[in-house]
Amino acid sequence: MPTWFFTFFCLSVLLMPHTCKGAGDNASAIVSQMRPLLHTFVEIKAWGDGAHEAIEAAFAEMSRINDLLNNYDPASEVSRINAAAGEKPVTISPETMDALRTAIRFCELSGGAFDITVGPLLKFWGFAQEEPGMFGHEPDRRAIRKAKKLVDYRAIELTEVQKEGGAFTYCARLKRPGMWIDVGAFSKGYVADRAMEVLGARGITNMLISAGGTICARGKKPDGSPWMVAVRHPRKEDSFLTFVKLSDASISTSGDYERFYEHEGKRRGHIIDPRSGMPVERMQSVSVIARSGVESDALSTALFVLGPEKGIALIEKLPDASALLITQQGEIVMSRKWPQRTVFY
Ligand code: AMP
Ligand code: MG
Repeated sequence: MPTWFFTFFCLSVLLMPHTCKGAGDNASAIVSQMRPLLHTFVEIKAWGDGAHEAIEAAFAEMSRINDLLNNYDPASEVSRINAAAGEKPVTISPETMDALRTAIRFCELSGGAFDITVGPLLKFWGFAQEEPGMFGHEPDRRAIRKAKKLVDYRAIELTEVQKEGGAFTYCARLKRPGMWIDVGAFSKGYVADRAMEVLGARGITNMLISAGGTICARGKKPDGSPWMVAVRHPRKEDSFLTFVKLSDASISTSGDYERFYEHEGKRRGHIIDPRSGMPVERMQSVSVIARSGVESDALSTALFVLGPEKGIALIEKLPDASALLITQQGEIVMSRKWPQRTVFY
């Protein structure tokens, strides 16, 4: 079964039931639309005057930004940067510049545990394709070392030049041939944030956007109650670990169950530790609640790599962020501000 189907299925169970679907002009009915986007299914729920049109505009914006960032689409700006690695700078849009700058902040914050240039290692382990699978060279230490050398977010050069009329030109370059940016760990959150801006600009204040492992919420449901989100159990497909109320915040979950394959009895998951070059084995899942979608998305991947000690130390330093981690042994670790203390493992 394709992995996207699994993600879609999980998502459709994760979102809690709502009052009304696709309603007409009743402003207090939730309008809900789901579309394939970002290698998953994205669902937007919103209510208020003009919700239908606002959702249309939000999907259009998500699609536009995805077209710039999607590293699996050869025509995207990120693919053009990847194709020119080690060569000349590539001119990019302000949107791509902003997305890369934002992502690099999380690379720095995590000390490189989260690194968007992880592409060569993803290729090595067979995750840089639709269906993950090994290419038959596991685990060749020398080849891992070679791929690891190409992973370094500090070798992304971003330049901005102000032209005479005041307008800016933006460029990006990867310093070494073979480097490869992968946006998979933050683009869903980033794109969902842009969609929320579009909805907000059209006067919508109550919305829930679900994109893969990231769910962003603003405001409330029409009956005044908060949006509720379930965190899925990493080992029991149709069970939940816990439920959280989400208002003006985002939650993302990174899990070893999302994309993986088994090789000689070993589970190889899609999140790679750039420092060792190996798929992370220590964690089953990490959920992070933060102010924005890109923040929760990037941090859940970062904490998955960092593990409980360093991960909790990082999250405790950040305002309005909290985390729930499940180790491979099933140990539950929560940061101090994680809202729901009851977890069913
Ligand atoms: P997520 O589900 O948000 O945790 O993102 C996982 C995806 O991020 C993987 O499928 C890869 O595309 C990418 N990825 C894997 N390891 C890393 C890493 N250490 N830093 C940044 N991105 C990563
Ligand atoms: Mg992520």
